[in-house]
Amino acid sequence: MLSRVVVVGSVNMDVLTRCVRMPRPGETVPGRSVSLLPGGKGANQAVAARRAGAATSMVGAVGDDDFGRILRDFLDSEHLDLGRLAAVPGASGTAVILVDGSGENAITIVPGANDRVLPNSLDGIPLTPGDILLLQGEIPEATNIAAIARAREAGAVTVLNLAPYRPTPPDVLRDVDYLVVNETEFANVTGVGADPAAAMTSDRVEGLLADGAGVAPNVVVTLGAEGLLARLDGTVLRVPGFPVTAVDTTGAGDCFCGAFGAALARSEEPEQALRYASAAAALSVRSHGAGPSMPTDAAINHFLG
Ligand code: ADP
Repeated sequence: MLSRVVVVGSVNMDVLTRCVRMPRPGETVPGRSVSLLPGGKGANQAVAARRAGAATSMVGAVGDDDFGRILRDFLDSEHLDLGRLAAVPGASGTAVILVDGSGENAITIVPGANDRVLPNSLDGIPLTPGDILLLQGEIPEATNIAAIARAREAGAVTVLNLAPYRPTPPDVLRDVDYLVVNETEFANVTGVGADPAAAMTSDRVEGLLADGAGVAPNVVVTLGAEGLLARLDGTVLRVPGFPVTAVDTTGAGDCFCGAFGAALARSEEPEQALRYASAAAALSVRSHGAGPSMPTDAAINHFLG
């Protein structure tokens, strides 16, 4: 039987407003456009994994509001298994994003239903050895901890994308198979973020990984256009970024994690899965939006040649 990707995570509606310039407190400024875009790190990663060819379940919650219905319909149209996507009373997770003429943004996220993704969310979900569990930092930590324990019992592989960063006990990190973070999150994980004198260059990341930083057995640090550095089974390796013209890097990390999960679910070697994920993420930054820009398996393989 083919292994599945199971995402336990957030589902948000992104309300994106383009404005002439950022309003100051108390001020009203003209807006140019408004769009409703399905998002949330969990949903983005699930869409990326599914498009990259993996049977994928989205475990989480939306509200019983209009956004919740739109979000469910969208995830359904992406052919995700939604058997454990709850509809709970109240608002769906909502991000209100203002982008000004220079591309600068300001964001407020209301977690809404995502706060109701509780540790029992995984009860009854069949997990088998080789299944890939994808987690992020937008649902309660207790739920992530319960999910990691379930995955270990079942022999499933856990990928924790600690984004947005939140302090996480070392024994939790030790229990995940892959920790995936960007440079800023890695600075926080290692405590280097508290030291403003210490810039997180890629050489610094490499040195820290060689010293065992990040705690998890395997650690992946994504470096934007530069690609990534990883420590796999104690060996540090670099996967250079694919040269592309980036137009919108929103969701690059989510695309990376989803495609990585899909490749692992097909039993690709971790190093090969990282290269596949990096190609997928490079493709995603060539077009606008998070969800809509997630590439298909065919497009990724074509790009890889
Ligand atoms: P995040 O979105 O979480 O901050 P990164 O910016 O590090 O994550 O991007 C994740 C991955 O996406 C990178 O490791 C790389 O593979 C790919 N990527 C991001 N930006 C670019 C880019 N400009 N060109 C090519 N690949 C990119």
